[in-house]
Amino acid sequence: MSEWFEVREVDGDVLAISEPRHWEQVISYLIVGREAAVLLDTGMGIDDIQQLTSSLTDKPITVVNSHYHWDHIGDNHRFEHIAIHADEASLLEHEPPEGMLLEAMRPENFWGATPEGFDPAQYSIPLSTADRLLKEGDVLDLGDRRLKVLHTPGHSRGSICLLSEDGLLFTGDTAYAGPLYAHFEESESQVYRETMKRMSALAGELRLVLPSHNETPLDPHILVEMADGFKQIAGGAVGWQRVQSQWGPLRRYDFDRFGVLLPLGR
Ligand SMILES: [Zn+2]
Repeated sequence: MSEWFEVREVDGDVLAISEPRHWEQVISYLIVGREAAVLLDTGMGIDDIQQLTSSLTDKPITVVNSHYHWDHIGDNHRFEHIAIHADEASLLEHEPPEGMLLEAMRPENFWGATPEGFDPAQYSIPLSTADRLLKEGDVLDLGDRRLKVLHTPGHSRGSICLLSEDGLLFTGDTAYAGPLYAHFEESESQVYRETMKRMSALAGELRLVLPSHNETPLDPHILVEMADGFKQIAGGAVGWQRVQSQWGPLRRYDFDRFGVLLPLGR
């Protein structure tokens, strides 16, 4: 069994598959239903997540990508069925920026041993092709569990969250405990703010928020705090720091349990 992944049941039939030995602290989720399973994201592709998930369930697995960023699609190429929001399907077929991968492979970003045979110098994200295009309101039926697709643009144009009827919200990179990346060229802070407002309205009916980085699960109240944070930023009511990043200088807003990164100029 691979030691690269850490598998933990976060709720009945929901397994968090994390990669704690890399700075990204990315998390994929295997959601197993009576008839079928969904694998939400495929991680960084540093070890074989397909081999792992096929040892965890015998149900047919469909990959659903929370969004197209490289750290969530690394092992897509090992799967036959891939679903992603229609706005981002074509991006699975493009190489991710090489600079980002080189940055990720710097030795200090690894917090433990890598799998045998893994060579950071050869790291790449193989291209993949979606065979199902998702949109707002689509339902993924696993037999005894239904996952509703929410289109939640902000972090990226085609970011989605999955809402399970029993009060779980899988938030992808839209909401996690840490600095939220709202600074990409495709991000619009106003769009992100609207998304968080919508998500905070769901908080009362949720049991758990299951994000794609850092700690999991989170208590749903964090969505209310995030919506409020974006509102404060828009109103100019909160200070920020200038920080350097691989994307150039950014504004960083700090709140208790999360932060927001925005471009300097917008
Ligand atoms: Zn992302």
